[in-house]
Amino acid sequence: MYNEKDEKYLDCINNVAHVGHCHPDVVEAGSKQMELLNTNSRFLHDNLVLYAQRLQATLPEKLSVCYFVNSGSEANDLALRLAWQYTGHKDIITLENAYHGHVSSLIDISPYKFHQMAGAEQNQHVHVALSPDIYRGKYCEDHPDPATAYAENVKDIIEQAHKKGRKIAAFIAESLQSCGGQVIPPVGYFQKVAQHVRNAGGIFIADEVQVGFGRVGTHFWGFQLQGEDFVPDIVTMGKPIGNGHPMSCVITTREVAERFMSSGMEYFNTFGGNPVSCAIGLAVLDVIEKEDLQGNALHVGGYLTQLLDDLKKKHPLVGDGPWPVCWVGPGKKTGIRGHLPLQKLRILKEQRILLSADGPHRNVLKFKPPMCFSREDAELVVEKIDQILTDLEKTLGLQMSEAVISENGHTKRKEPSDENGLVHPSVGSGHKHTGTLPHNKKKLKTL
Ligand code: PMP
Repeated sequence: MYNEKDEKYLDCINNVAHVGHCHPDVVEAGSKQMELLNTNSRFLHDNLVLYAQRLQATLPEKLSVCYFVNSGSEANDLALRLAWQYTGHKDIITLENAYHGHVSSLIDISPYKFHQMAGAEQNQHVHVALSPDIYRGKYCEDHPDPATAYAENVKDIIEQAHKKGRKIAAFIAESLQSCGGQVIPPVGYFQKVAQHVRNAGGIFIADEVQVGFGRVGTHFWGFQLQGEDFVPDIVTMGKPIGNGHPMSCVITTREVAERFMSSGMEYFNTFGGNPVSCAIGLAVLDVIEKEDLQGNALHVGGYLTQLLDDLKKKHPLVGDGPWPVCWVGPGKKTGIRGHLPLQKLRILKEQRILLSADGPHRNVLKFKPPMCFSREDAELVVEKIDQILTDLEKTLGLQMSEAVISENGHTKRKEPSDENGLVHPSVGSGHKHTGTLPHNKKKLKTL
């Protein structure tokens, strides 16, 4: 990205510019279609059918009916309506720290938001399950079977709801919790949850708005990390699918869609699936394929993880979790909260690197760059983080040599004892940005 002075920024957070800022193929597809026709979705257009077919081809066969809408929130709201209509039940199980969108129905099921509001009460039809976090959650890596244990929590919630005469319509979760702190659920968790929820007459909604579309590298969708035997009843997608153009989609099974239609109430969405949006969506899919961006995510993502793993070994401030970068603070997994990591991110921004922090304590660094992110980009951002951590640890008086002990050949971390809190360290001066971002000449007025 470039600001108004034409200064270059390395964008590590923009999962909307999925295939790169202003990708020429996407721009061309959109403008060509705009020259020809854009209209109310009452008028059928080939693009809509072609795009639905292409999206469907990325998913298990059972997920075969697409509804095109315009934002992640619209998609999740429609998913709830589908679940309510299909099951005839009302209650929704959501995860701790989850975020699913900004409209009323979704704020209700987004603890990430409703916990921020003083005096906000949890709605009676909403149940919050434990986040399946094997690093900081109730059942960690040392538990013999965290997937079953976390799924049992969902089962307990269902039983409690039944005792009160309530019925479960759906379980909704991001396939990997993003805003909730980059939580990767243990394999098998979704299968077990789906079984409990379906036994109770409910359905499973996978929110892929933030994490889907090839970003996990090995698969096109995050839920596929759970194994081929898992298929959600509804998948919602948004953010990256239009490379910045506002569009999103709900894909579900024929059974769910038919029950929705049988209510007699027509579903209509003026802009959802209009010819321009679909042309753009098709172009995004073409670019992902043509440039093998899923392969790039796997390759560069793996490299970035490796570089961050090295930081884990070097810096006591970096959490020793399954995913490497957490500003856990000395001595505990929840450690340093909001203020300090965000302050450090501001220093990164001064060095022209855009990165964010998330999770309940805002202390998990969140990487979600455009998928054309390169190895050089990864090296640059990790070098900067390394420098910031080194300076900060110096100020806090922490050294890794004190924090590491070797046990049976495994490196194990000893908790450093210094509990000093929020210090303002000096940070090394800027380093020339050598990273490359194709298709990224984007003016940025309001950094
Ligand atoms: N679900 C998830 C997981 C999200 O991250 C978001 C947006 N941050 C939404 C839904 C809502 O999407 P939108 O902002 O496009 O309405």
